[in-house]
Amino acid sequence: MNAQRATHAVSGSPLRTDFGHLIDGELEPLGEPLDVINPATGAVFARSPAAGRAELERAVTAARRAFKAWKERSFEERRAAIKQMAQVLRDNQAELAELLTLEQGKPIGQARDEIGRAATQAEGMAAISIEPEVLIDDATRRIELTYFPLGVVGIITPWNAPINLAAGPLTSALYTGNAAIIKPSPYTPLTTLKLGEKLREVFPRGLLNVLAGGDELGQWMTAHPGIDKISFTGSVAAGKQVMASAAATLKRVTLELGGNDAAIVLDDVDPRAVAPKLFFASFVNSGQVCMAVKRIYAHERIYGALCEALAEEARKAKVGSGLEPGVELGPIQNKAQYDRVLELLDDTRRAGARILAGGEVPKGPGYFLPPTLVTDIDEGSRLVQEEQFGPLVPILKFRDVDDAVRRANDTRFGLSGSVWSSNPERAAAIAARLEVGTAWINQHRATSAVVPFGGAKESGIGRQYSSLGLKSYMEPRVISLLK
Ligand code: NAD
Repeated sequence: MNAQRATHAVSGSPLRTDFGHLIDGELEPLGEPLDVINPATGAVFARSPAAGRAELERAVTAARRAFKAWKERSFEERRAAIKQMAQVLRDNQAELAELLTLEQGKPIGQARDEIGRAATQAEGMAAISIEPEVLIDDATRRIELTYFPLGVVGIITPWNAPINLAAGPLTSALYTGNAAIIKPSPYTPLTTLKLGEKLREVFPRGLLNVLAGGDELGQWMTAHPGIDKISFTGSVAAGKQVMASAAATLKRVTLELGGNDAAIVLDDVDPRAVAPKLFFASFVNSGQVCMAVKRIYAHERIYGALCEALAEEARKAKVGSGLEPGVELGPIQNKAQYDRVLELLDDTRRAGARILAGGEVPKGPGYFLPPTLVTDIDEGSRLVQEEQFGPLVPILKFRDVDDAVRRANDTRFGLSGSVWSSNPERAAAIAARLEVGTAWINQHRATSAVVPFGGAKESGIGRQYSSLGLKSYMEPRVISLLK
């Protein structure tokens, strides 16, 4: 998506303009500014700088220089710096969370959780040790597999969880000895720029650079010969462009892309017990989560009761501005995404599906839609086939488990999925048939620093987190000794 230009009048307090790129250790408010909109009001509340090619060149030069010294540091030294980064996140949690809610829309408690989680994940990843592996050690040979850092990593992030999705790749890049340039989404650049400012003293000059800018800045990064790896989180369409562009310089890529996660709910669950968990897994951050539940397949025996229990959850959820106390669901983050979700809702209505809860677009400012559940919908409809990335979720009926698995897998997406049952062994056998990067049982959306996360099929390439993820920020090198 392109950077949004304000069409709404600037309202209320003066525009915030206290943001700069972090380039070679300096804060630089350069470039034609971008308007940043508060999605709860639809009004511009801040201006972000936007980097051009000159800023990118300087960031790459600084990062290449800093990399030379940083790669010589021990894992222990780099771990200490990551711990300091985690402390900076915690020390500034309240300030960063408020800014995150203003630009992203999520409720303030969830914004605080995002910052706190970024700190915990960073520490968790930096506690993993990457050791050489002895592959052969016999009378004639000793062969070891070792790893060395790649160089400069470009980290490109989306607008749904800008800090969490920057902190994971950033930790991976720096802990394994690389330098980094982060580019946040033009919709949500501010919290990442502020974080860069706060981290200025933590890392050596030039090691971490933060550049705000539009999609074209991301394109320049993927084509730049001075960048060795791209860690991209975003849509499938842009992910394909990133991979094509990175091919020209054979950059390494990790692509964390979209999903269309199915939850398969078996006939042996208590619908009232699973409904709150399923509801949260579907609607947290108003459905704007890559690994949110986006299709619910319910066995016909519990279908009616589950629909009713989910509808009850939807009716009682408090929707509003993320800064208001008690709000559980905020707005959709930007106008283009809002229009897309409303278009999917229209399409669903036109196709004759039934709106079980929600569905009314509130009057007034902001990009709001209450949590909306849809039933009696065709498997082939857009809402079932596409990634909605909003608070609009279909519930589909099945009779036969094989049919549910077939429908869950009948998609180009393969991020994650879940199976819900009172019999964990039965659920595990079904989970093992899902074509996804993560299959959860009786939960959805649970991640950890030591567990790899990423997508199958068009949901991505590679994994973040865990030693598997960390090693993808390094090049394997075999050391082969003839005795
Ligand atoms: P997007 O692809 O439009 O943009 C993501 C980032 O890429 C932005 O910073 C954007 O400026 C940049 N960009 C856009 N086109 C580019 C190009 N051709 N080359 C380089 N950079 C480019 O995605 P979005 O709308 O910001 O985010 C929503 C999407 O992200 C959803 O599909 C969601 O599922 C996905 N997502 C995936 C994960 C995951 O871990 N798998 C996590 C969060 C979000």
